Amino acid sequence: MPLDDLVLGVQRLVDRLIRRLRLGPAPAGAGRRRLLIVQIDGLSRDVLERALAQGRMPFLRRLLERGGWRLSPMFVGLPSSTPAFQMAAMYGVRPDIPGFHYHDKRRREDVYFPRAGDAARVEAEQTAGRRGILEGGASYGCVFTGGAVANLFTFAMLKRPSGSGLLVALSALTVLAWVVVKSTVLTVMELVRAVARLLADPVTEWRHGWKWLAIKLGLSVWVRQLFTLVVSRDLYAGVPAIYVNYLDYDVLSHAYGPRHVRALRSLRRLDSSLQQLWRVCRRVPEHGYDLYVLSDHGQAHCTQFASLAGGRRIERVVFEDFLPASGTRAVSPERPAGRQRLASGIKAFRTGRSPGYFQRFFNYIEDGFPWVLGELKEARERDNVRVIAAGPNAFVYFVDDAAPLPIERIETRWPGLAEALSRHPGVGYVFVRGADGPVCFARGKRYHLSAADPGPFTERPDAALVVSAVGDLMAMPSAGDFVIYGTDAGPGHVSYVAETGAHAGPSPEELHAFVVAPPGVRLPEPLNHPTQLYPHFARYREPAA
Ligand SMILES: [Zn+2]
Repeated sequence: MPLDDLVLGVQRLVDRLIRRLRLGPAPAGAGRRRLLIVQIDGLSRDVLERALAQGRMPFLRRLLERGGWRLSPMFVGLPSSTPAFQMAAMYGVRPDIPGFHYHDKRRREDVYFPRAGDAARVEAEQTAGRRGILEGGASYGCVFTGGAVANLFTFAMLKRPSGSGLLVALSALTVLAWVVVKSTVLTVMELVRAVARLLADPVTEWRHGWKWLAIKLGLSVWVRQLFTLVVSRDLYAGVPAIYVNYLDYDVLSHAYGPRHVRALRSLRRLDSSLQQLWRVCRRVPEHGYDLYVLSDHGQAHCTQFASLAGGRRIERVVFEDFLPASGTRAVSPERPAGRQRLASGIKAFRTGRSPGYFQRFFNYIEDGFPWVLGELKEARERDNVRVIAAGPNAFVYFVDDAAPLPIERIETRWPGLAEALSRHPGVGYVFVRGADGPVCFARGKRYHLSAADPGPFTERPDAALVVSAVGDLMAMPSAGDFVIYGTDAGPGHVSYVAETGAHAGPSPEELHAFVVAPPGVRLPEPLNHPTQLYPHFARYREPAA
């Protein structure tokens, strides 16, 4: 694409100009290695390996085949989700973060990561004063700061004091101006292509194409360009530690499934961002950047629970079918399902009542990646029972007791409830705390999980790791008294929210991620928990020997 080449060429000129202009003293800490972590959110090792084999990530493949980079498998534990992973990797703590949305019985309130303040409070409380791997550095697109002084959401990097204030300001302006120019060009190109597709196949494109286009333009063009360029700027400035999380694969995979061509194509765009960052690293060899590429979890293709329950969400099914009584109170009003909203969105658009492009964009990605939007998902509570759907996982809390309840206590009140839930076609596992370790209900059968007897996971080569991950999860005080998973349900994996790709659960696709490390770097082996990354990355903060 000649326009792409032109844009990239001009961008290289700007890069060089900024480099020449960097007249101030060399950044502090010369002689030490610096850290650059690129996270590909939601990419399992399996999908990565296929993408490499299919030539979808030619740059990363070249690093691995000829550059001496090494790919290490990593087991991420439960829940397989970004906040739990980043807390463990950035601070080395075993977090009390059982899902993306959960309830804190002691406080009597939900924790929902998209909501303003929740992530900051969890970070302040659970790190217990430990130093994060990004102290004095920058984080982009992450849930937690890791101690970074700059991140996208505060835009603190635009005002970050440093040795050459004028240059920093100039460079920040250059970057932002450039993001606008470049993303506008790419957006126009995508819109032209979209119109061409619309003319070729108006019905299909109109119904399915524009949601994807909105995600692609919003995240895969604008946000990716912004991240790539602010990180480039930080690399020139010698920021000691940078963590950038590219979200587009995860969002597209939630929307279409982890192996859908639209999700896979985003990997090529990501690969070119990776190459850009690597080029900048090579232009400033004196800064000694080590580039790591990793993922925080994978995704599993899933069926939506509502399609197995007559259109009802699991919160309703638990109350109506398993705890029947009248007077169910919705904590937040029922939101129409994605397809209905798609239809009503199109209707509003056709009748001229459209709330605007960005509003629709946000409405439609909220099911796939709701924390971007700051909206609380539905939870229901009745008679001191609270049910929260968080993905392929749902939690049941008996909220009249502030402590987690073991199965023995629950059974005195609700005999047979866990067995009955586990027989529902939309349920794979129900995990509960037992007197001596986690108890698992699957297809109506009860298993006491142990390394020696992994119950329903016996056939899996990673059975021992899965059992220890379930143990970690049920040791979290904030995990539900029941933790329900749609993983391995009757019709395949099931999610309790509107999505086609899901994660947080124990399927191999979700649990097996990866780290790509530069030549000469030795990672701990085997990587069986993201806490193992912490001491490795924390060493970059220590003064050079
Ligand atoms: Zn996700």
